Amino acid sequence: LGRIESAFIREKRFTADAAHELKTPLAIIRTNLDVIKMMESPDAADYRETVTVVQKQIERMSQLVDNLFSVYSMNGYQIDETVYADKIAEEALSEQTEKAERRHIKIERSLTPCRIKANPVMLKHAVSNLIDNAIKYNEEGGCIALSVREDNRTCIITVQDTGIGISQAGAEHIFDPFYREDKSRSRQMGGAGLGLSIVKNIVEQHGGTVEYQPNAPKGSIFILKIPLIET
Ligand code: ADP
Repeated sequence: LGRIESAFIREKRFTADAAHELKTPLAIIRTNLDVIKMMESPDAADYRETVTVVQKQIERMSQLVDNLFSVYSMNGYQIDETVYADKIAEEALSEQTEKAERRHIKIERSLTPCRIKANPVMLKHAVSNLIDNAIKYNEEGGCIALSVREDNRTCIITVQDTGIGISQAGAEHIFDPFYREDKSRSRQMGGAGLGLSIVKNIVEQHGGTVEYQPNAPKGSIFILKIPLIET
C-alpha cells in the first residue's frame, strides 16, 4: 500500500509540474497578444515582435509535449533485439556533430563492440539526450568524449563533457522529473528538466543503471551500465 501511495503522490506531483510548465508559456503568449490588441495602431515591427515571442513559446511547449509523450510512451516496449551498443551510440553522436561543430566543441570517441539486448530506438534516445546535454551545458570550444566498452560482463557507455558541471546538491536530483539546476538558463535552452528522467527510465527498463560523476577539472560524466548478452 505504501508503494502504491508513493507512486500516486509522484504521479500527482508530475502532473502538477507538467501543468505548471505549460502554464508559463501560455501566460507569456496571452500577455503579448493582449498588449498588441490594446495598441491603437500597431506597426509591422510590433507584429513581428509578437509573432517571434509566440513562436518561441510554442516551440517550448511542443518540446515539452514531445518529452511528456516520451515519458509515458516508452513503458512496455519490447526490449529484445540483439544490438551493438557502440553502433547505436555512434549513430546518436553523428546526428549531433553539426550542433557541436557550431559551438566549436571537439568530439572524441572510443568505441569497442558491445553486444546487448535492447530496444535500439529507446537506447539511441537515451544516449542522444546525454549528448544533447553535453553540448548544451558545454562552453564554446569545449570537449565531449563518448566511450563504449565492456567491463565485468557489463556494457559501459560514458558521455563526458568539459562544461559547467553540476553542483553537489544538484547531483542528487538531476534524475528527478522537472529538476533543473539553473531554471532560467535551462529554460532559455528549451529544457523542462525531463531529459535525464527519461534516460533513467529507459536504462532501468534495460536492466541497467545511470549515474553521474563530476569530471576533472570541470564538467560532467554520465555513465550508463547495461548487462551484456551472456554467451
Ligand atoms: P533539461 O531539459 O533541463 O536539460 P535534463 O533532465 O536533461 O533537463 O537535465 C536536468 C538538469 O541537469 C539540467 O537542467 C541541468 O541543470 C543539469 N544537467 C544535465 N546534463 C548536464 C550536463 N552535461 N552538464 C551540466 N548540467 C547538466
